[in-house]
Amino acid sequence: MLDFKRRGRLSPKSYINGILAGDRPLLSQAITMIESTLPKDTKLAQEIIDGCIPHSGNSYRIGVTGIPGVGKSTFIEKFGLYLTMKLKRKVAVLAVDPTSERSRGSILGDKVRMEELSRQPGVFIRPSPSSGSLGGVAKNTRETVILLEAAGFDTIIIETTGVGQSETAVSSMVDFFLLLLLSGAGDELQGIKRGIMEMADAIAITKADGENRQKAELARKEFQNAVSLYPPKESGWGPEVMTCSAINNEGIDAIWETIVKHRGEMEKTGELAKKRREQSIKWMHDAIVLSLKENFYKSEAVNKSLPPLENEVKEGRTSPFAAAVRLLEIYFRNLS
Ligand code: GDP
Repeated sequence: MLDFKRRGRLSPKSYINGILAGDRPLLSQAITMIESTLPKDTKLAQEIIDGCIPHSGNSYRIGVTGIPGVGKSTFIEKFGLYLTMKLKRKVAVLAVDPTSERSRGSILGDKVRMEELSRQPGVFIRPSPSSGSLGGVAKNTRETVILLEAAGFDTIIIETTGVGQSETAVSSMVDFFLLLLLSGAGDELQGIKRGIMEMADAIAITKADGENRQKAELARKEFQNAVSLYPPKESGWGPEVMTCSAINNEGIDAIWETIVKHRGEMEKTGELAKKRREQSIKWMHDAIVLSLKENFYKSEAVNKSLPPLENEVKEGRTSPFAAAVRLLEIYFRNLS
């Protein structure tokens, strides 16, 4: 980072070549640029992404979600170690968590969360930046995935907690979506947003060890029954329900085997390519909405008219819809 500050920005070509050669500091700097809101960084980031896109797409993109405490970091650590040490895969871990209080300054906090994994040479772990809307964080994550793939990472794990639609955002950027659940009282089904279960390609009941082992197996059967009632996915894939214990390192390999099986089927049927094409279109629309929104709120004319109009709405003198239309008119009139 110090070096980055001293040297300032490099040319897009230097970043692209560095990333393709697997240069970690340059990769990290380019990701920082993606996360930056300075116009000159945004422009440079875009050029770097464009240069990396032809070299992207070759990874397993895996989403992992579950409520806080379900065991995501413990699982990802063990899963990541299995992939790196046993299967010699190149693993990167990203987090999408717009409500996160973790800031870039506390990457250390995350390192402690996945301490052993982060010590492995070649493993890349990057938490979500602390600020920003879900839309912004999701955009940054998608762009970061492109860079990571160009840098040769073949397994990208994107972690999210089930807050504020972040699971929906993550499921729209991965090939395989893994939902981690706790066993326990029979009310799990109510505690989980139904849509999330339907999005999952696999469900793993965590902490299936010690006294919890039997409960986990029971929960596995219940959930297997529950998901079998869902209409089949368009791709034809039926979600698998498994148990695992990260602490005992059990069930980790079976989850990877499921991911490989899913990949094989999706490639054979052309579903993977189709899914990624559809995701690209969604990304484009998300980028449009995000960019329009950002520009709107950056507009000087809008910012001048916003407080008085907010007052009018508060006092009931103008309806929210009429105020919105007036602001949009002001925005479009003042476009340079
Ligand atoms: P996260 O908030 O979803 O990332 O959850 P963590 O990975 O931080 O785990 C939450 C708690 O569950 C911690 O105290 C872990 O030690 C514990 N835990 C995680 N995985 C397992 C497991 O496989 N078995 C048991 N018994 N405890 C676990």
